[in-house]
Amino acid sequence: MDCLFCKIIKKEIPAKTVYEDDNVLAFEDINPQAPVHILVIPKKHISTSLDIKDEDNELIGQMVQAANVIAKERGIAERGFRTVMNCNKEAGQTVFHIHLHLFGGRAMNWPPG
Ligand code: 5GP
Ligand code: ZN
Repeated sequence: MDCLFCKIIKKEIPAKTVYEDDNVLAFEDINPQAPVHILVIPKKHISTSLDIKDEDNELIGQMVQAANVIAKERGIAERGFRTVMNCNKEAGQTVFHIHLHLFGGRAMNWPPG
């Protein structure tokens, strides 16, 4: 399967890893949109959030927990941060291996663009 993030998991493409456990990997976004911009991904390939199965529910929780750990490490937990999972074209999904964007370090606008 020709998936960019699967290649990052297999270390075939380098990334600045900030967190890793048996099920989840997190690394710096290559084109950061905030002072902190990290992608949290499952090691299991899931193309979009629409493809999340009941059996994946624990894994999705682990992604959110990993984002929390990183936010605390980066000192943005109390200030506030944003997690986003884009799904399909109109949301701007460009990599079809689900990922939680973790943004922080600046005030976030609402509504999102
Ligand atoms: P999406 O638009 O699918 O929600 O987010 C994809 C994200 O992946 C973008 O923020 C983009 O900058 C990031 N990205 C794309 N290619 C690479 C890469 O090769 N390495 C890293 N670290 N991030 C990437
Ligand atoms: Zn993948």
